[in-house]
Amino acid sequence: MLTSSFSRTLEEHGFPPLRARLIHTLQVNLGKLCNQTCQHCHVDAGPSRTEIMTRETMDIILGVLRRHPEIATVDLTGGAPEMNPHFDYLVSACRSIGKTVIDRCNLTVFFLKGKTHLPEFLAGHRVEIIASLPCYLEENVDRQRGKGVFSRSLEAVRHLNALGYGKEGGDLALHLVYNPSGPHLPPEQKALEADYRAELFSRFGIRFNRLYTITNMPINRFLDDLHAQGQYEQYLNLLIESFNPHAVENVMCRSLLSVGWDGRLYDCDFNQMLDWPVDRTMPQTIADFDSGGLTTRPVVIGQHCYGCTAGAGSSCNGSLD
Ligand code: SF4
Ligand code: SF4
Repeated sequence: MLTSSFSRTLEEHGFPPLRARLIHTLQVNLGKLCNQTCQHCHVDAGPSRTEIMTRETMDIILGVLRRHPEIATVDLTGGAPEMNPHFDYLVSACRSIGKTVIDRCNLTVFFLKGKTHLPEFLAGHRVEIIASLPCYLEENVDRQRGKGVFSRSLEAVRHLNALGYGKEGGDLALHLVYNPSGPHLPPEQKALEADYRAELFSRFGIRFNRLYTITNMPINRFLDDLHAQGQYEQYLNLLIESFNPHAVENVMCRSLLSVGWDGRLYDCDFNQMLDWPVDRTMPQTIADFDSGGLTTRPVVIGQHCYGCTAGAGSSCNGSLD
């Protein structure tokens, strides 16, 4: 039986209701279209999805970014964000106004027709790349992300390395993402990063900067999987029992605002996927951003929030410890 709720847990540990503190990062979902259909995708993305951000919405976002220098980073996600036909336009425009740009890239997108220019384009614009590689073993990656994904991902990383990505101390950052293959917490990030670095270099000669470990959120495809295996309660109890009060300070909704493909606003990507918009007293779309309050908004929380505070904590940029 599930006997806890996230708001009650916060209260029991002496935390006031969760609120944002600043907006340092605008995380922008460019659409649900993707060339892959990974087993644990929390976006339910795939090749048949039609939701895609328009150039008009991008222009509204660019207006907000120009007016708000405190928003330093634009974090582009999808689906495969590069499959949006206006991806290059948005990246160039964000860079020209001095924003740090992150591309959450699945690596295999580089091999699609019309997308082979991407590695050079991203390098030329000094875009930070965060790419999923849930294991350094082919069998495990292909099982989770699709047949042939591992070998194409390695080929893509080799190309990025040749362009200068992944060099220690360089200015082209390439970070990898690990998420568990089943209903358990990720291992300790630093130790796993050391294993990844040694294994990927000795087996395949490839380099990266940081490894981010991310906890699987009990939503969408992963939730369906948990229900299908009869493991939902067990997994949620694991997240609840692993609650780490130190992680609460840095959960990403404190410093990030998430924009949907249609311009609607959310506290984070997970709330976006659940279709839980920002608190109803707040502006609901990016077009209304300047009407105020979003920086210190109350955050809309649910049971899935335990995924951010379990163990070492989890965010789109890895553990929170
Ligand atoms: S590559 Fe990313 S967005 Fe695409 S299906 Fe896999 S997890 Fe989802
Ligand atoms: S799931 Fe979203 S709203 Fe909940 S704690 Fe994590 S970042 Fe915040």
